[in-house]
Amino acid sequence: AAPLLEVSDLRVEFGNPRHGDVASVLNGVSYQVSAGETLAVLGESGSGKSVTAQTVMGILDTPPGRITGGSVRFKGEELLGADPERRRLLRGESMAMIFQDALSALNPVYTVGAQIAEQFRFRRGMSRKDAMVKAAELLDLVKIPNAAQRVREYPHQFSGGMRQRAMIAMSLALDPELLIADEPTTALDVTVQAQIMELLDELCRERTMGMILITHDLGVVAEVADRIAVMYAGRIVEEADAASLYAHPAHPYTRGLMASVPRLDGGGGQLDPIPGLPPSLSAIPPGCPFHPRCAHAEDRCRSELPSLRALDDPDATGDDHRAACHFAERFVGASPEEVLTP
Ligand code: SF4
Ligand code: MG
Repeated sequence: AAPLLEVSDLRVEFGNPRHGDVASVLNGVSYQVSAGETLAVLGESGSGKSVTAQTVMGILDTPPGRITGGSVRFKGEELLGADPERRRLLRGESMAMIFQDALSALNPVYTVGAQIAEQFRFRRGMSRKDAMVKAAELLDLVKIPNAAQRVREYPHQFSGGMRQRAMIAMSLALDPELLIADEPTTALDVTVQAQIMELLDELCRERTMGMILITHDLGVVAEVADRIAVMYAGRIVEEADAASLYAHPAHPYTRGLMASVPRLDGGGGQLDPIPGLPPSLSAIPPGCPFHPRCAHAEDRCRSELPSLRALDDPDATGDDHRAACHFAERFVGASPEEVLTP
């Protein structure tokens, strides 16, 4: 069977070529998500993870964005170049997205319930009363206490975590098969973050829903992700099932991200293992785009772009562990310290 979502060699530019100022935001991104599977897409801001998601959803601003190549297939159907009406129908019905900032995504002048109910009224033709009953059921589903009363409250009467739950409820209204969550917990405190992640995980399992979880924080996705794709400068630089990626990170960038996650034993976090900043996307360095920041760069890295290739990781299932580094084999079995100190 075709995967739920298949993104292949996606390329997006920003800016105007006539003015000579073009940023290569996506440089051949490929990933797949199956029903019931959670793919975490990890990277610093500007790595292309949100732009990929916006292209999948059909909400990329064009211009300034321009899709210059690749394909996005949903259950086998090509979405790039599809009729805008078809795209609008799929949004909500088949794929939904939640964002970091629930407060600005909700309208302050309508009750939370009315905003959820709107979808039932306009897409399902329900009466106001029936739609509000459905809205309350959804608030209950996302574990908001006293849902029947709270459905009549306004967004400002909800805490940050409750607003994010309301957003999740809204995204589930029309039973999507794919949920894209873009930094859904970044604005919340650590305890609430964990609760929201747990809720998303549970909902995906119960509904066999595919999920793309976009984050800059490797710590947040540990419990939830089935697979992890790491992005850098508009490319995937490493991808593996979550257990293999945590046990045997192969790309020096992934290893740097891992070393910056605070650990319970007090290790990590304090380290600053990745010096420098991501490159400007209008001047991506030749060769390996990570080479100016990589402690292991050699001559070859400055001229030859490493391709994303399968690694021999004894713990990975099949060819599932892939990395885009010329020397990935050296790193895949090494301890973090060995890789961080050249
Ligand atoms: Fe570092 Fe070279 Fe690997 Fe790039 S290809 S990550 S510069 S060692
Ligand atoms: Mg983003």
